Amino acid sequence: MSLPAADEYLPGHGDPAYDVRHYDLDLAYSVVTNRLDGDATLSLVTTVQTKRLVLDLAHLDVAKVRLTGAPLGRYNVRSERLVVDLKQPVAAGTELTLSVRYHGRPRPLIDKRLGDAGWEELADGVIVAAQPHGSPTWFPCNDRPDDKASYRISVTTDAGYAVVSNGLLVEHRQRGSSETWVYEQDEPMATYLATVQIGRYRDWPAPDAPESGIPIRIAAPADLDADAFAAAFGRQHEMMDVFVDLFGPYPFPGYAVVVTGDDLEIPLESQSLSTFGRNLIRGDWDATRLIAHELAHQWFGNAVTLARWQDIWLHEGFACYAEWLWSERSGGESADVHARRHWDRLDDLDQDLVLADPGPDLMFDDRLYKRGALALHVLRLTIGDEAFFDLLRAWVAEHLGSSVTTDAFLSYAAARTDADVRGILNPWLFEEELPPLPAS
Ligand SMILES: [Zn+2]
Repeated sequence: MSLPAADEYLPGHGDPAYDVRHYDLDLAYSVVTNRLDGDATLSLVTTVQTKRLVLDLAHLDVAKVRLTGAPLGRYNVRSERLVVDLKQPVAAGTELTLSVRYHGRPRPLIDKRLGDAGWEELADGVIVAAQPHGSPTWFPCNDRPDDKASYRISVTTDAGYAVVSNGLLVEHRQRGSSETWVYEQDEPMATYLATVQIGRYRDWPAPDAPESGIPIRIAAPADLDADAFAAAFGRQHEMMDVFVDLFGPYPFPGYAVVVTGDDLEIPLESQSLSTFGRNLIRGDWDATRLIAHELAHQWFGNAVTLARWQDIWLHEGFACYAEWLWSERSGGESADVHARRHWDRLDDLDQDLVLADPGPDLMFDDRLYKRGALALHVLRLTIGDEAFFDLLRAWVAEHLGSSVTTDAFLSYAAARTDADVRGILNPWLFEEELPPLPAS
């Protein structure tokens, strides 16, 4: 029997037959041997009548499966899926609790179009960069971006390492040669945004507290250069305040920044935290813009998340535009100057990308980021600053914790403004050719 899939861009992931409400993950991990022992308990509800639950789990061995709420049949692991059969079909709306005990040596999942993602060893620690397909490398999950759940993540690892995960640190204890870190993420979270970061980190004092009162934690290697740290994060608190002003209340109880001991090719956003390689700890625009970009994802991507990967511009276009907004608000070049420069650059490049359906190969193409930001700039030029930022704040406030599509954004924007939003944005979203940029 063929296995279900939920998203065209991620074949072989996700099961639409159920929704997970809560993940409770108890993990034990040895940094030296890269051995992970996990116990995952999923509280879920079926969405249709079903006799089977299919979870995503890659490279790890399952030792035991338990089910409450219905009699368990057989289970087996194949093609990076854990297929759990029930003895009889259960009706839609049935609440079940599924526990999976598993273990192994986690490693990234490699996809020829999407690259590597998931649990990965650093020189001395771990990074989990799961976007878009890496979550199954460390816990059994329903790997669909539109199936958001709350999480409790407990990680026990060698003493001397810090663990940073999503949400609030609710417990930290040391016992003998190990330490346990427990995080709770109450706000709904997509699987790919769940993360564990392990390293010899210490908490660096944030240079200043934001006026908005959001707690900011910075976990970084002890030997980081203090001047470089100040150059990179000296204005993090101001950035938080500017984005709260532009996008509305920060959507989580706190924000954490992790700086890895290793260099990283790109930084990454996870829900309530961002991770930067130590090579990005600098004060130049190419580093600063990424610090702004990852923070903006807390609103656009994490609080309000795409329902389908084809709508990735709803994350990356907005986060890229937030870079230009930070520039404008922090005394740098205006968003309009950035927009015109990037329009000129895009005009010289191939125009074979459809923003609202780029295909998995071009999902993270830089042109998508810039064209998405340009589309927003055009909307801002057309409707004016007041209506534009009202729209962004309302869009976040009304879709907090939920999953959205491009069409939902267009309908929402059209209903809230007098402008012909679809007429303005359709050429940017659905055609390959680069539309002209209106005069400012
Ligand atoms: Zn991004």
